[in-house]
Amino acid sequence: MKESVSRFWNNRPMMISGPCSAETAQQLIQTAKEIAQNPQIGLFRAGIWKPRTKPGMFEGVGEPGLIWLQEAKALTGIPTTVEVATAAHVEMALRYEVDVLWIGARTTTNPFSVQEIASAVQGIDIPILIKNPINPDIELWVGALERIEKTGKSHLGLIHRGFTEFGNTIYRNAPMWQLPIEMKRRYPNIPLICDPSHISGNRQLLQTVAQTSIDLDFSGLMIEAHINPDEAWSDAAQQITPANLFVLLQQLIWRSVNSDSENFQDSLTTLRAKIDEYDNQLIEMLGERMKLADQIGAFKKDNKITILQSERWGQILEKVLAKASDIGLSDAFVRKYIEAVHLESIHHQNKIMNNS
Ligand code: PEP
Ligand code: MN
Repeated sequence: MKESVSRFWNNRPMMISGPCSAETAQQLIQTAKEIAQNPQIGLFRAGIWKPRTKPGMFEGVGEPGLIWLQEAKALTGIPTTVEVATAAHVEMALRYEVDVLWIGARTTTNPFSVQEIASAVQGIDIPILIKNPINPDIELWVGALERIEKTGKSHLGLIHRGFTEFGNTIYRNAPMWQLPIEMKRRYPNIPLICDPSHISGNRQLLQTVAQTSIDLDFSGLMIEAHINPDEAWSDAAQQITPANLFVLLQQLIWRSVNSDSENFQDSLTTLRAKIDEYDNQLIEMLGERMKLADQIGAFKKDNKITILQSERWGQILEKVLAKASDIGLSDAFVRKYIEAVHLESIHHQNKIMNNS
């Protein structure tokens, strides 16, 4: 791997920035020059082929963008990355010496496309970053990683860019942090980068999302920047100027996973022992609660009564929610928790009633 690329790859945090799309030579090169003024940013991004939800939108400039990107690198020394979705994209990106490839969220959803890219990069020493699929299906993300891994690549990374969710949410793509957390648990040695731009969909949320990812020990950030964000041809609402990006980066609080302080370690061990004890008690009590559900199930069976008693369920929910707000538990969490407990209780009763 080239020195500039391995410097990016081995540095923490791994920092990627650049416009959503390459639009004109002037826009791309000026953005690169401004971004390169901050040595923290190790990789310059630009979309050359844009997967758009509907036809008629700007679909990327194609090959000319790769020429400008090459020029931007020659002028600034910063290595480059583009999104690839087909073997033809891979081939053209390599022809113009793009340093890192990334697979976009829409492409990760399609095993045929991922396989096509895997075959195209076989035997080529180039790092690949894999965005999560747009749908919250962790196995699809894993599958894409495995397909690329099978080509013998040693430099693979994951990018978390949020997931499509139906209805109104404050995010363009819901972060569903539990999914990247699970990827990190399964692949502790693969760098995990957060893309706050596509999660947020607007400028206001970028800082908070970026900080959350740092607090979850992500390896780096990919944030879109543009010299004139309001006039951007794609994703205008979420892009920021390089100057504003530098302010954002400065305001982030970086944290380490470990501390050498004995005092810190001792306090942590004590608190964790208590947490383990509570977890144990919670599980035991849930077991006891389900034994009661079994008894109730037998009772209902003898009396030919339905498992679901809607009124009773309504009362449980109300009582638990009222108590939760008194002790500082969030409504959303408690609702999820008690719904899960209720469902487990229904499963238990169903087993008793139907001998299944
Ligand atoms: C992008 O990075 O501009 C992009 C299209 O992202 P995603 O694949 O996450 O939608
Ligand atoms: Mn974008």
